[in-house]
Order: sequence, then structure tokens, then C-alpha cells
Amino acid sequence: MADLKLQGVSKIYHGNIRAVAPTSVEIDDGEFVILVGPSGCGKSTLLRMIAGLETISQGEIHIGGRLVNNVPAKDRDIAMVFQNYALYPHMTVYDNMAFGLKMRKLPKSEIDSRVRAAAAILGLEDYLDRRPKALSGGQRQRVAVGRAIVRQPKLFLFDEPLSNLDARLRLSMRAELIKLHKRLKVTMIYVTHDQVEAMSMGDRLIVLKDGIVQQIGAPLEIYDRPANQFVAGFIGSPPMNFINCALVASEESLFLTGDGLHVKIPFEKKASLSRVVRNESVPIVLGIRPEDFSERRPNDGADDSNVIKARVSFLEPLGSEVLATCSVGAHEIIVRLSPRSGVNSDEMIDLVIDMERARLFDPATGEALL
Ligand code: ADP
Repeated sequence: MADLKLQGVSKIYHGNIRAVAPTSVEIDDGEFVILVGPSGCGKSTLLRMIAGLETISQGEIHIGGRLVNNVPAKDRDIAMVFQNYALYPHMTVYDNMAFGLKMRKLPKSEIDSRVRAAAAILGLEDYLDRRPKALSGGQRQRVAVGRAIVRQPKLFLFDEPLSNLDARLRLSMRAELIKLHKRLKVTMIYVTHDQVEAMSMGDRLIVLKDGIVQQIGAPLEIYDRPANQFVAGFIGSPPMNFINCALVASEESLFLTGDGLHVKIPFEKKASLSRVVRNESVPIVLGIRPEDFSERRPNDGADDSNVIKARVSFLEPLGSEVLATCSVGAHEIIVRLSPRSGVNSDEMIDLVIDMERARLFDPATGEALL
């Protein structure tokens, strides 16, 4: 078990390709941290630098308080699980798991007890004599995880380990890995481009874009308070809706106005925005999650200060909810409604915006304003 500290770690590949900008982060002993971002954002490069499979251009990496910049991969006490399980096809499950320990010349009895303990944790006891080709995808992935467990490493690194599995299996393997982490209480770093996986698995997320860390935080913290428009759009499915509008001061209140939009800013948000309004009207981006709209019924009697009119263009009934694509002026938004809402395509509906949960962004920089 160990903590991990990155200090200004960066990677520039040949040809001056900057894959990772100087990155500093401290990961506690026993933490489960997810590195998430779109393809090409530098996740694997960062993970491979931690593993020692890639040289670092700048900075320091400390594992368990020890500077490992010049420590070869095999001596870092790290186990890595990849997307392609890389099992030896001619060896049994038992031998696949035991192989690394045999190479390290551990006593036979020690190897046997470690392999059997890992097999018990992963539900592989009945498969120890099989070869990989006689296993399902999920079982193969479990063997790959087992091979990592038997080494009793200080740090587990996972590089998109579930991307080759079908949706259902991915879901159950996700749950298994969460349980595994609870059981082993070992530091895990997990790379994925899948924001659903990221939201559901880790203690903390590190969101990357173009090699630059955008935000670090607990999943819900990032979901509720994204640092910028990129994070707001990347984390959450369907993504947050963005509406370009203007922030206008009028008498005692602040309003957002735009095509099909005129809503009042709640008092708490107003205080922190007053510095923004230097002119009469400031361009701004309103961000609202699909679940932060609700349909207003004719006799609801709510005040009009946070209601917009929307035309339903497309409905996607998903059983537990209906995703309604609507137009508000020239903007298209996606709204999560109850499956019993009874709205129809082409209907005009009144939507109440939960302005307490709305986010505001600077259109020039994309940074969150609140
Ligand atoms: P991710 O894992 O997020 O998909 P990578 O870490 O694989 O991203 O890649 C980050 C960037 O570095 C990409 O632009 C990729 O093309 C580039 N890159 C990755 N490996 C190499 C390499 N060996 N040489 C040059 N560029 C590379």
C-alpha cells in the first residue's frame, strides 16, 4: 500500500508533441482515483509514466514517499491491468496467475496460497485448470486482475480494462472492481474515457483535456460544480444544456435574457455575480442539467420568474424516464421528464428551471462564474 505524489510531471514526445502538461496531484494511500477524459487527452501517457513504462520529461513521481523517477518499472511494486488482458494462451488460469510469482522465485507454497486466495476473491476457483480460450471475456478479465492481485502490489493501475466487454458485463465488472477495492483497500488508479464509469467507480476523478488537468474532485462535486464548460459537457449523460444569453441588471434584480429566455437569478447567486455586471448587458452561458427542468402544469401557480417556453421536437422514452429534445428559441435542449408526463411531440410546454442548480459560464473562457 502506498500514496502517490506527482509534482509537475509532464510528457513531451518526439516532434514536440505535448501529451501531458505539468501535472501535480497527491493521491492518498488506499484511494480509488479515476483519470478520465476524451481519447488522446494524455490519460494512458500519465498512467504509463507512473508505471515506469514511459520516461517523464519533467517533474517528480513519488510512490510511498520514495522518488521513483529512475526506478525501473519492475522495481516500482506496481501492477497494471490492460484492456487486452494479455494472458498466455497456452497456460492454465492457475499458471497465468502464478507466472509472475514463479519468475520472482517465490516458494511454491506461497505461490499456491496467493493464487488460491485471489481465485477465491474473484470467483475463479472452478476455472483454475482451464485455458483462456475456454473462458468468457469477463472471466479472462478477472484472470488478468487476479494476476495483478497475487503480486500484492503497492499500487494498482488499470488502463481501460473493461472496454472490450459488452455493456452488461462491463456493469457487473465495474461492481466487482469497486468491491475488490473495498476489500483490498489498496491505492488504485483507473483510466477510462467513459464518464459513466468514472462517475460510478472512484473516490475522486481527475478530468483531463489536451494533457491539462481540468478539475480534480469527488464525482458529485464535479457533477454539481464543474469548473468549466468542458467538464460540464463531458461529465453527465445526456450532457448539461448550454444556452447563450445575456446577464442584465434591472432595478434590484439580475436576469438572464436571450432567445426564448427571460429568467431571474436567485438571490444567493446574485451576490457573487454583482462583480460581473459592469455594463448593462454581459454575454453569458447558462448551463442546466436535463434533470433540473420540470414541467409546469396549468394550475401549478408557480411564479413566472424561472419559466421558459419550449417546443418538444423529439421524445425518447427510456422506461424510468423520458428524454425530451426541445427547442427554446434557436437553442436545442434535452430535458429529463417523468415517464408519466404525457407530453407529445410538437407540443409547447412550460419548463421550470431549477435556478439554484443552474451554472453560469464565461463564454470567452468557458470558466464557471460561480
Ligand atoms: P489517451 O490515453 O487519453 O487516449 P494518450 O496518452 O495515449 O491519450 O496520448 C496523448 C497524446 O500523445 C495524443 O495526442 C497521442 O497521439 C500522443 N502520443 C501518445 N503516444 C505517443 C508516442 N509514442 N509518440 C508520439 N505521440 C504520442
